[in-house]
Amino acid sequence: MRQSIFLNFIAICTLFLVSCVSRPQPPEIPIVIASATLNKLQDRAVELQHQRQLQLTEVWHRLTQANASFCGGSVKGSLGIGLGYSALYAKPFQKSYQHLFGVGVEPQIIYLHPNGPADRAGLKKGDQIVGINTSKLTMQTDKNVDAWVKSELLPTINKKKQVTLTVKNQRGELSNVVVNPEPICRHPISLYTVNSISAAEVDNLRVYITTGMLRFLKNDDQLAWILGHELAHISLRSKGSNKESEHSADYVGSYFTARAGYDPDKIIDFWQRWAAEDPPTIALEGYKTHPSIAVRIAKIKSTNQEIAKKRLQNKELIPNLK
Ligand SMILES: [Zn+2]
Repeated sequence: MRQSIFLNFIAICTLFLVSCVSRPQPPEIPIVIASATLNKLQDRAVELQHQRQLQLTEVWHRLTQANASFCGGSVKGSLGIGLGYSALYAKPFQKSYQHLFGVGVEPQIIYLHPNGPADRAGLKKGDQIVGINTSKLTMQTDKNVDAWVKSELLPTINKKKQVTLTVKNQRGELSNVVVNPEPICRHPISLYTVNSISAAEVDNLRVYITTGMLRFLKNDDQLAWILGHELAHISLRSKGSNKESEHSADYVGSYFTARAGYDPDKIIDFWQRWAAEDPPTIALEGYKTHPSIAVRIAKIKSTNQEIAKKRLQNKELIPNLK
């Protein structure tokens, strides 16, 4: 009797355990298929990242170049190029950058601003920069390249004085090219991989924008206005966020957008969509730090009319100051 109770106990436990550990059985995938999928996903991620980086570089370059005179002493020299090299990318993605865009260890031009200093001097996308003045890039390893670009190449360009670049073209031919840097606002832009929709300036020094914001924006004109607004905060040295500083940054930001050759009217659609997504921001009282979107839109429209009028009168696009 005792033994049968014990056996029953075992049987119940076993049943219980079996039902407990029974799990769905997803299909087994051969490693080859899994790694092919992984490669495709990495390629797609790199394509998206690359496209976003180029879009940001282009718009930020145009803004900081066209509005350099509003950045006071905070300007640096620029050749109107964006450089790519493998040390800039996380290890798993370097292969994708290499086979999709031909970006390897050496610093090469992946963005060339149309009619910028480097373009005018005849440099081409894909050209590698392996020397500046007397400083040559030797020992081309990821670590050396990164160190040379940051300690020699960029600081020399930033000085705004004429430079002689040693350039290796895609056929491997070396040449020396003289380029005159042009002034741009010194403040860097960075892209944060975050879903929230946001852009801001930090400590009057730099600007960031999130991937969430990039997805919410519909075109380069809207991106230019958002970044122009942040650049305006820096240029106006706004301290903290309040309604007045937001309206001022909207006002000056519309001018910055127009001066860079973008259409400031395109931002109205952005604010209308924003208001629909976040209804509490519509009302006149709105938030304490940010003005109501209804007021904002009205003021931006009026600013843009002022800009359009100056254009018609062939006046320089300079914001009115009190
Ligand atoms: Zn703001």
